[in-house]
Amino acid sequence: MTKTILITGASRGIGAATALLAAEAGYAVGVNYRNQQAAAEQIVDTIRQRGGQAIAIRADISSEQEVKSMFETLDQAFGTLTALVNNAGILGALSPFSDISAERIQHTFQVNVLGSMLCAQEAVRRMSTRHGGAGGAIVNVSSGAAKSGSPFEYVDYAASKGAIDTFTMGLAKEVAQEGIRVNAVRPGFIDTDIHAPGRLDRVVASVPMGRAGQPEEVAQAILWLLSDQSSYTSGSFIDILGGR
Ligand code: NAP
Repeated sequence: MTKTILITGASRGIGAATALLAAEAGYAVGVNYRNQQAAAEQIVDTIRQRGGQAIAIRADISSEQEVKSMFETLDQAFGTLTALVNNAGILGALSPFSDISAERIQHTFQVNVLGSMLCAQEAVRRMSTRHGGAGGAIVNVSSGAAKSGSPFEYVDYAASKGAIDTFTMGLAKEVAQEGIRVNAVRPGFIDTDIHAPGRLDRVVASVPMGRAGQPEEVAQAILWLLSDQSSYTSGSFIDILGGR
């Protein structure tokens, strides 16, 4: 049976690296994106050129309707869902908390928290043995910010990732007897477009390894958490922080 995976925000960064690695591991890959269609299509082309299966699916994960239709598109393309990576996430500009607008806080939570929950709901409905599914695995992409709180930078984002950590623990327990494992990774400073220009160069001094991480170094941990090699691991977190 083909393993099928949906990776949200897979057009760039950590999601794109995870999509390429998942295809290598034999998954048929749903490459979700919000705006950057060309980048998503390029990931799909690369996977196909390497002999794998993939489709690009546009959906804003903060829209319940778009999430539903994304999962239906994937059902039709590849059949039973085996794995979900809740990777898509957004980060506002660096700002002290007192200057962050209500609109920004709301948008951050709508994408990072509501979006991940909506996707997890659709995945559980398909994977759960209670609903006739064959089980599966979910990995949420949290952040080291969930533990540091990111003062003076983006407390709203950090709080949204704290919510993801609590969600991971609760959902893992709820579906543990339904054949579904739920885990999370907490990356630190990873070299992607999410950072304002020049920021990574400034912050790496605080990383014991003295460098930013690469998206592939996060993708490897995600793939392990999805694989049968982690069959007794659920409700767990892998910190990928360069030693912090
Ligand atoms: P990135 O390079 O900025 O890529 C973000 C991805 O999310 C893109 O594919 C983007 O799609 C997609 N996206 C954004 N909003 C979306 C929405 N509403 N619906 C669907 N897709 C959406 O980000 P990244 O650095 O790889 O981050 C990936 C995840 O890792 C995020 O959850 C982030 O919080 C987390 N993380 C990153 C770091 C880091 O240092 N990079 C550290 C800790 C945690 P488009 O290309 O179409 O815009």
